[in-house]
Amino acid sequence: MKIILIGIQGAGKSTQGKLLSEKLYIPYLSTGHIFRELAKEHTPQGRYIKETMNAGYLIPDAKTLEIVSEYLHRPEYVKGYILDGFPRTSHQAEKFENGVDHVFYLKVSDREALWRLSYRTGSEADGREDETLSAIRKRIELFHHHTEPVIEFYRKHHKLVEVDGEESIEKIHHTIMEHIHSDKNVTHKQ
Ligand code: AMP
Repeated sequence: MKIILIGIQGAGKSTQGKLLSEKLYIPYLSTGHIFRELAKEHTPQGRYIKETMNAGYLIPDAKTLEIVSEYLHRPEYVKGYILDGFPRTSHQAEKFENGVDHVFYLKVSDREALWRLSYRTGSEADGREDETLSAIRKRIELFHHHTEPVIEFYRKHHKLVEVDGEESIEKIHHTIMEHIHSDKNVTHKQ
């Protein structure tokens, strides 16, 4: 099963992604995490990625598509995955050829996301250096500009399920699981 989680930074994508991964035995993959690893490399590419991320900007589509495609061809992702942070632009969504079964949009207000991020610590922050207020604000702005069209893209393709991301972690997880199961039943009946 191939699942995509979309939401503003702080919406709870990684929390939900990891829960789903445990429940469904499907690997969880976050592009932000991949880029944070690449940013540690002392290479021109590593330095470029680090500077881009720390400023809150997006990595160019071509590079992102190349890296994501390389990962998803690895044996552990062949049967399915839970993707967090990709696709983030219409171009990425249009060029993404791996296919997707469900797209969950965890919807939270900018205000709630900012509030949550200012209290994020330790493992939740994934050792992030890019959580400065100006980088967070930039990412929120870019989400509205670049990622809202991705939401519309999947809505048009009847893949999108909008979930209230301001509910409790358990309630959101339950809503997502219910949707996955009800969709399976529909498919079986056909
Ligand atoms: P995240 O952990 O999802 O907030 O991602 C952290 C940073 O990684 C973003 O601010 C971007 O610089 C970069 N990034 C992650 N995913 C993508 C993507 N799909 N396209 C472009 N840049 C990305």
